[in-house]
Amino acid sequence: MIILVRYGEIHLKGQNRPFFERLLLNSLRDAVSGFEGVTVERGDGRYYVENFSDRDLEDIINALKKVFGVHSISPAREISKDLDSIAEEAILQMDEYILEHGRKTFKVETKRSDKRFPMNSNEISREIGGKLLDHDPELKVDIHDPGMRVFIEIRDKAAYVYTKVIMGQGGMPTGSSGKAMLLVSGGIDSPVAGYMIAKRGVRLSAVHYYSYPYTSERARDKVIDLTRILCSYAGPIDLYLVHFTDIQMAIYEKCPHQHLTLIMRRFMMRIADILARKHKLQALITGESVGQVASQTIESLMCTDAVADLPVFRPLIGMDKSEIIERAESIGTFETSILPYEDCCTVFVPKHPTTKPDIQKIEESEKVLDAEALIRDALEKTEVLHLS
Ligand code: ATP
Ligand code: MG
Repeated sequence: MIILVRYGEIHLKGQNRPFFERLLLNSLRDAVSGFEGVTVERGDGRYYVENFSDRDLEDIINALKKVFGVHSISPAREISKDLDSIAEEAILQMDEYILEHGRKTFKVETKRSDKRFPMNSNEISREIGGKLLDHDPELKVDIHDPGMRVFIEIRDKAAYVYTKVIMGQGGMPTGSSGKAMLLVSGGIDSPVAGYMIAKRGVRLSAVHYYSYPYTSERARDKVIDLTRILCSYAGPIDLYLVHFTDIQMAIYEKCPHQHLTLIMRRFMMRIADILARKHKLQALITGESVGQVASQTIESLMCTDAVADLPVFRPLIGMDKSEIIERAESIGTFETSILPYEDCCTVFVPKHPTTKPDIQKIEESEKVLDAEALIRDALEKTEVLHLS
């Protein structure tokens, strides 16, 4: 077996195309690095994954499927370019398919990029279709809405036959669009936000604020687990763990309670911004969605934006919770996100948070704090985990 990997949007990238193709090659090689001897090579507008044992096929496909920039994947057999071999292989794969999925209507689709091959695509499809019908007279052709397709490609090097096209994530290869810092909580939203920006080719770092002893070890581990799931798509991620308790206590003791959440969120933004700039990252990412909670009204978002120098990306801004949950399920973070461990925000929630904060009033409420000292202290206690 061989695996064909197709890519999508890179096609649009003109002169930068070799750069994108190289990044994608690296990501694909990283994705299969756990399987000994597997090779990934680039050739005529796609990648070829080879030298694996059949029992690893499914795991390798699952790993490749997660690589950003991959449009689709097909496990295929490479055979010599003569009609008899192609027919024999098509029959074999049709039988395998029927065994697995039952008999369906079918269609043969041929692509011929080797124009020296003596028949054109339509002729090949017709010929192979005929041989399939001879082999299994109960089969039926449906050109317009087939239950299955047999694909044949005639390329320079060889012919390829396959029946499956597995969709990839799409997006752009990791590292092709700069770097950003994800503010990751243990909730449902922020991992999805990180996934969405990473999918556009942005390399991620992440920062998490924890409030030990008000939040448990397990809450921290949950965030580490969530970040690891993101790594399986986006490659290695540096996760900064910031001890946030002293800041929260100071806010809790000294500031008006209706402003607690917002002031806390402003401290998160400030620290994320400092860490990001220190490590040459170019943007911040949060899982906020407009109107979801009091701290996510437009007025509140203005207040948190105001303390960040870097642009703040909020890819979920126009999504409903149900849509975010659907995404979380499909990328595999949902099950972990709903584990019931306390988040630092839920420990210090005010009973009546402001929903239309006035930025001057917030700044006024904050004045009693020695922000610089609090932040310096938190940064000193910050640890970093290199996750992959
Ligand atoms: P999530 O599901 O991502 O926790 P949420 O709907 O619970 O989001 P908030 O708790 O208001 O919303 O947080 C909004 C955003 O702030 C989060 O999406 C995340 O980006 C960031 N954030 C919240 N808590 C933390 C934390 N403890 N550490 C790092 N970032 C956080
Ligand atoms: Mg949260």
